[in-house]
Amino acid sequence: MLDAVVIGAGPNGLTAAVELARRGMSVEVFEARDTIGGGARTEELTLPGFRHDPCSAVHPTGIGSPAFRDLPLERYGLEWLHPELPMAHPFPDGSAAVLSRSVGETARSFGVRDAGPYRRLVDPFRGKWDTLARDMMRGVFEGFPRDPVTLARFGLAGIPPVAVLNRRFHDEKARAVFAGCAAHVIHPLTGIATGAIALTFMLAAHAYGWPIARGGSQAIPDALAGYLRDQGGVIHTDYEVKRLDDLPPARAYIFDTSPTALARIAGLGNAFASYRYGPSAFKIDYALSGPAPWTSEEARRAGTVHVGPTEGDIGRALRDAHEGRAPERPFLITSQPSLIDPTRAPEGKHTFWVYGHVPNGWTGDLTDAIERQLERFAPGFRDLVLARATAGPPELAARNANYVGGDIGVGSFSGLQTLLRPKPRRNPYTTSHPAVFLCSSATPPGGGVHGMCGHNAARAAWRRIRETRG
Ligand SMILES: Cc1cc2nc3c(=O)[nH]c(=O)nc-3n(C[C@H](O)[C@H](O)[C@H](O)COP(=O)(O)OP(=O)(O)OC[C@H]3O[C@@H](n4cnc5c(N)ncnc54)[C@H](O)[C@@H]3O)c2cc1C
Repeated sequence: MLDAVVIGAGPNGLTAAVELARRGMSVEVFEARDTIGGGARTEELTLPGFRHDPCSAVHPTGIGSPAFRDLPLERYGLEWLHPELPMAHPFPDGSAAVLSRSVGETARSFGVRDAGPYRRLVDPFRGKWDTLARDMMRGVFEGFPRDPVTLARFGLAGIPPVAVLNRRFHDEKARAVFAGCAAHVIHPLTGIATGAIALTFMLAAHAYGWPIARGGSQAIPDALAGYLRDQGGVIHTDYEVKRLDDLPPARAYIFDTSPTALARIAGLGNAFASYRYGPSAFKIDYALSGPAPWTSEEARRAGTVHVGPTEGDIGRALRDAHEGRAPERPFLITSQPSLIDPTRAPEGKHTFWVYGHVPNGWTGDLTDAIERQLERFAPGFRDLVLARATAGPPELAARNANYVGGDIGVGSFSGLQTLLRPKPRRNPYTTSHPAVFLCSSATPPGGGVHGMCGHNAARAAWRRIRETRG
């Protein structure tokens, strides 16, 4: 009898496995694909020598994750690389607002009228990321927060929609930056708690930056897997779990899957029938003959570039995807890893990563709309394209069963689900089956490569394991 079986080797599944194995428990992981990593993989998607991240690329919540910071991942090959600027947000006149490690540089880039309001917003949280992240990202059932005052302050600022948070700013630059950061969850800017999403990304930049992993995002699950194996854990790949009976007997089964798949596999019937999935993304990975020719000098120095000039434009693009229309002018999240990581492309060449938002299950092609938007801010971009690999909702869903209809957030960020995922329950990692747990990004604190869902689920599971071991 194993202590635990984990279904799915994404960052959360591997983190759950590691947390149990390093406490002396026997753990085996079963992954459907032939490689581990889930949404943190690196592959030659276009041409030989061009190494692309098909899903996650930039890791503000990874470097700032309380779970990862407690693990010796650097010893297992993980190296964070920092661009000169975490993020730039260019405007049509060639200027840009920036998100810098420095609060001062960020504030100055918003213009004289908004530098003060920005400082006043973030000052109460400066130097407090570690405690705030632990309090925000832990399981709600785990007692009192370490710093309830800072957490309450964060809640007051962030629970309103980002459209409300933005009212403190006078000009478009700060508003566009906040709207762009909130757009990392695919929901209209009027949604509750979208302010908290934006604020989290801003504070993460000031605390630890928005780094990439040397060699590609695959380095993160590879480091987790290396540590897991050293702790005695075993990983099986090419093993799609269809029924609990496919698995060895265990005291706990921890699912890094969608709630829908968990219910089907564990025979829990309609347990998550009311769980809703959200919009999707249209992703393009480019092999380029040179760096992206941004008009803005700041964008040429940034790891991540957000493309969508105003809060209104960004809001419209998100609303379109949410309401079932493809956006005419998509808001783009882009990353240019080869600027600082020479392992990603042959010398002098570059990889470029971009996605825009589209409706769940959409089957169209957003390539032209994405490239028209890029050409506005980086004229000549198309001339540099050596090859491109595109993936819309059907391809994303085929890559990873967790992306139901291509929903890269594994569950819509709306209604009760915004705060209570996957359903209202005292401990969201448990299910009606006492030995079955959920650890994917369908649980708090949600999407991103941070392992915190896995960390929290492991804590719930090890109570059960201890009880049943006797
Ligand atoms: C296009 C895109 C861009 C993104 N960009 C970023 C980014 O820049 N930064 C960031 O932090 N996050 C980003 N994300 C989100 C991030 O990738 C996910 O939130 C994260 O990977 C979730 O981790 P997870 O372990 O919960 O699930 P996943 O990483 O999805 O892993 C789940 C694993 O379970 C396996 N599995 C599913 N069903 C079964 C089954 N029945 N049997 C066996 N195995 C199964 C899957 O094959 C997969 O390997 C992005 C995602 C996408 C798609």
